[in-house]
Amino acid sequence: MELKVIKTPQEWRAQLTPLEYRVLRESGTEAPFTGEYTDHVQAGSYQCRACGTELFRSEHKFASHCGWPSFYTAAAGERVRVVQDRSLPGPPRTEARCATCDSHLGHVFDGEGYSTPTDQRWCINSVSLHFVPDQA
Ligand SMILES: [Zn+2]
Repeated sequence: MELKVIKTPQEWRAQLTPLEYRVLRESGTEAPFTGEYTDHVQAGSYQCRACGTELFRSEHKFASHCGWPSFYTAAAGERVRVVQDRSLPGPPRTEARCATCDSHLGHVFDGEGYSTPTDQRWCINSVSLHFVPDQA
């Protein structure tokens, strides 16, 4: 996978807030129920906060009540890539990363019983996203 946006840690630190850097570039997780988009329902797109690529769409967002913005799929076009995350003991988790700049977004959980078209929960940090409303 060829990344289209490559910056040094120093460049990312200059561009991002400390929390954004911690989550996007060091695979951190924002505290649940603190993110600005957790219960956000406006129509529009969610871009990568680091590079501006459109990653998720409001029509795929659903109320999971898990404390983070949740989508049942990523936006079309393979803009989000998934990798195995073995940073915790136990079964590996599926991590979602921006395919353009390789920033950490969140994790993907399968088969939890949500009544969505995919029964997947793309559990994404608000701080990894930037919302852009659709034109009225
Ligand atoms: Zn990105």
